[in-house]
Amino acid sequence: MINVNEALKVILNVVKQLESEKIPLIKGLGRVLSEDIHAGSDIPGFDNSAMDGYAVRFSDTINASKPKPKTLEVICDIKAGDEPKASLKENQAARIMTGAIIPKGSDSVIMVEDTEKVKSQKAKGKNREFVEIFKETKPGENVRRKGEDIKKGELVIPGGKELSSAHIGILASLGMSRVNVCRRPRVAILATGDEVIEIDEELTPGKLRNSNTYTLYSQVLKCGAIPKNLGIAKDKPQELEKKIREGLDCDIILTSGGVSVGDYDLVKYILAKMGTNIKFWQVAMRPGKPLVFGTIKNKLIFGLPGNPVSSMISFEVFVRPAILHMMGQIHDERKEIDAVLEEGITKKKGLRYFLRAYTHWKNGVYLTRTTGPQGSAILKSMAAANSLIILPEEEEKIEKGVRVTVRFLD
Ligand code: AMP
Ligand code: MG
Repeated sequence: MINVNEALKVILNVVKQLESEKIPLIKGLGRVLSEDIHAGSDIPGFDNSAMDGYAVRFSDTINASKPKPKTLEVICDIKAGDEPKASLKENQAARIMTGAIIPKGSDSVIMVEDTEKVKSQKAKGKNREFVEIFKETKPGENVRRKGEDIKKGELVIPGGKELSSAHIGILASLGMSRVNVCRRPRVAILATGDEVIEIDEELTPGKLRNSNTYTLYSQVLKCGAIPKNLGIAKDKPQELEKKIREGLDCDIILTSGGVSVGDYDLVKYILAKMGTNIKFWQVAMRPGKPLVFGTIKNKLIFGLPGNPVSSMISFEVFVRPAILHMMGQIHDERKEIDAVLEEGITKKKGLRYFLRAYTHWKNGVYLTRTTGPQGSAILKSMAAANSLIILPEEEEKIEKGVRVTVRFLD
């Protein structure tokens, strides 16, 4: 039996990054950039005011105070979007709004709260306006410098990054209306089992509703891939083969159930018969031991276990990394931390355990505890979990208070 690390290595070895496609920026959230983005321009594109106030020369404000203000002549009004024509000379100021271009001759902005308008005075038939300044400015004060956020030519977002809202804002301000991202993999999902019925069918003795398709479908969506529901196949060779073939137009095929050692666990045999290159069967872990992985043509096939939690954890541990690699996402944002175990745990030697857990931060440390019964069919403890406690293969008994590895799920 292969261990978790070896299994993951085998999978990632055969995963290839998908080709890229150009999409409108507005659809970019959560997509993975397939190229480095270098800035085509400075952001901001010009020196501009960070405040509503007055553009001044700092030398004209020296020693200004509330009791002894400096009076400056206001020579123009500059709104955001205007191109100022005037240039400030000694003892002059310009009224300026946030985001407007700093006029020539000015080196700083004083905020409106530190000034007061003086009644306008008539001179030579012209209205002249003045303002009292109550504070000294420093050179550059309240001025946003050209390029202070992003310099032209700078590497702003490396390829392989999943685009966040802020990344999209940066790309918008750089004028990139379309971006190159990795294509999203298509993932087919097939439930198997004579006992498994559709969720709107009536339950009869011995049957249970198909939950795996729905959890897997949502896990696929969460990774940013495109799910395709192949429905349910009975434990009949022809039906299994026919339905699996319907998934061959996708990049990945997921089946659930039928991979254990039961008499009707046919998935592995059907896959082999279809020409799948089976890379491994069974992984030393709990839950999730019965797992088949192989390739057929250039498609990946995961025969996931049937038990609802097992299939979810196998997805988390093996399918999710494969999907992220296909999408070119080299930075996985899942966080693994050390946490203090709030209960003692015994386990079987030789298997890596993934326990459903609730982990929280308290008094400077993470504390973690299981969320209830860990049977591989018990979804309720999975729903209550925000994390998985990962216990190494070689351990048998882990005492309360010991530090363990925890992976957050979101
Ligand atoms: P199997 O490996 O096919 O024997 O399945 C293991 C367990 O998982 C059995 O108890 C099945 O009833 C259950 N199971 C299989 N497929 C599903 C499914 N799609 N939804 C919910 N439970 C399932
Ligand atoms: Mg079955």
